[in-house]
Amino acid sequence: MSFSYRNIIFDRDGIINDVVIRHVTVSSPRNLKEFILKEDFKKFIKKLPSSLNLFVATNQPDIARGLLKKTILKKMHEDILEIYPIREIFVCMHDNKDMCACRKPKSGMIEEIIKKYNLSKSETCIVGDSSKDVEAGFNAGINSFLLATEYNKDIQLKYKKNTNICLFRDFNELECFLGS
Ligand SMILES: [Mg+2]
Ligand SMILES: [Zn+2]
Repeated sequence: MSFSYRNIIFDRDGIINDVVIRHVTVSSPRNLKEFILKEDFKKFIKKLPSSLNLFVATNQPDIARGLLKKTILKKMHEDILEIYPIREIFVCMHDNKDMCACRKPKSGMIEEIIKKYNLSKSETCIVGDSSKDVEAGFNAGINSFLLATEYNKDIQLKYKKNTNICLFRDFNELECFLGS
């Protein structure tokens, strides 16, 4: 199978590992016990051709909020890099008030990856589970894939008609969409 993209940028929470629902809010793991890698992603990534360049771009505002220790985050990312053929993990540790250029939906992290690895935008896509991911993709001028989940039903309708954004129900479907 040949792939329509050479470079894939994955969001982390909800794609690589489970999100954590606190009360009714979708949140991120704050300790290693909450950091659970998704089995379906594990299977999916194993099937990808080794020629693909894989990256992660993740917002981790819990660092700025003092809710997540940098050492814990580092350990999570060491685990990901040890298990998966991901070239680099880009992290935004800021919150909205910091007005940084990297926090998705801003395109900073995507632009940085594209520049650092000299990638072509038309060969690069982002895969995520929130409006921040798809908007970041849109702002960077790359196509986006949105995982349709129970907790993001509200945004699924909004993006259904956008041709730069493709909704997928599970990783088997994503594999079909990425292949050609
Ligand atoms: Mg996410
Ligand atoms: Zn940032």
